Amino acid sequence: EPILRAMSRSLTKSHEFQLRAERLLPGGVDSPVRAFRAVGGAPPFLVRAKGAYLWDADGNRYLDYFGSWGPMILGHAYPPVVEAIQKAAANGASFGASTPAEGELAEMVVSAFPSIEKLRFVSSGTEATMSAIRVARAFTGRKYIVKFEGCYHGHSDGLLVKAGSGVATFGIPGSAGVPDEIVHFTLALPYNDLDAVEAAFRAHPDEIACVILEPVVGNMGCVAPVPGYLERLRAITSVAGAVLIFDEVMTGFRVALGGAQALYGIEPDLTTLGKIIGGGLPCGAFGGRAEIMDLLAPLGPVYQAGTLSGNPLAMAAGIATVSELSARAREIYPELERVSAAVASGVAAEAEAAGISVITNRVGSMFTWFFTKDPVTDWESASASDTALFGRFHRAMLEAGVWLPPSQFEAMFLGTAHGDAEVEATIAAAKVAFAEDR
Ligand code: PLP
Repeated sequence: EPILRAMSRSLTKSHEFQLRAERLLPGGVDSPVRAFRAVGGAPPFLVRAKGAYLWDADGNRYLDYFGSWGPMILGHAYPPVVEAIQKAAANGASFGASTPAEGELAEMVVSAFPSIEKLRFVSSGTEATMSAIRVARAFTGRKYIVKFEGCYHGHSDGLLVKAGSGVATFGIPGSAGVPDEIVHFTLALPYNDLDAVEAAFRAHPDEIACVILEPVVGNMGCVAPVPGYLERLRAITSVAGAVLIFDEVMTGFRVALGGAQALYGIEPDLTTLGKIIGGGLPCGAFGGRAEIMDLLAPLGPVYQAGTLSGNPLAMAAGIATVSELSARAREIYPELERVSAAVASGVAAEAEAAGISVITNRVGSMFTWFFTKDPVTDWESASASDTALFGRFHRAMLEAGVWLPPSQFEAMFLGTAHGDAEVEATIAAAKVAFAEDR
């Protein structure tokens, strides 16, 4: 059986589901980037996934390079994860009271992330970053926060300033519905630019509560920190008494078991997690120095809560996922590196052979092909990419049976179910796509 099956059936059923969804769900979706607006064409509606593959409602099969935007590092419907969820579900979906599983997953997180002394589970990455900022403000008694253009930290009001992901894709630098007064305290600076950070601390002495960033950005496409950047941010925030928050919702358990902080050897004060930590179920976490986290109610005055926080199914899926990653880290991460390097450089070589300018940014199994000439280190350089060409590439690959994230400004992910045969087939499909684009 061929690895890639070109789209053999039309999207008849998907179109029907789309029309039905559009009547009730704005844009037919529950999260905007799913709508394929940036790349054109209609989104297939998915009904099943296994390993590295997805199936749509019409029976077309796709090789998956977005992994539900990051969580599915062990591949879809991975048997130990499925079993763990089934077993937990049979014991009751939610109690709204403490369970042993929360402590078990907490211990696994702390052992992978030595900077985390205490943590709290939530149900999404948005809640994790929103809550981390609240506790950082309480700890410092300060109001300003520093974030970076092209970084996305979820959709809470104060963080929707020059954000990445769908905010960047759809050109909504500040969301309607967010009052100016609320984002008054959000300073959005260019990524990888230390002068801008130093200037902000000079302009606001003793007023900046925290600096929050993606230590490897995924949400403007993949952008790595330039050498020395994270080190300097650590030093600047320490001297200024500001809290350094690494948003590792995407990078945690992805670029290394211990996330970007393990990869680069920098300890933030607080860390936010999501995606992989829930094994595909809704889950996030924020944690770090005990003296900061102990400000949370019921110990302290910072309020934060959640009906489904630490949900037993999410904990079970998280424990199954993280325990597998921890037990086999020495084998899994080098293999992800090898397979990702092969596909990232193989596709880039085909683009170049077809005369297309491409910049490949990759950190482990997170990567992006930017259709542009100059290095991509921040939002300004990322946004110079040829998004129309990306859209054509996306459509051609989808027809060939390869599912890429539907925007130039998103990272691609692969997992342990991707192997050499998948890589080879992807490169071959890209070769055809680029040749036809000439
Ligand atoms: N932070 C980062 C780095 C993310 O990539 C995302 C989501 O893509 C979030 C936060 C928000 O997480 P969620 O979509 O679970 O609210």
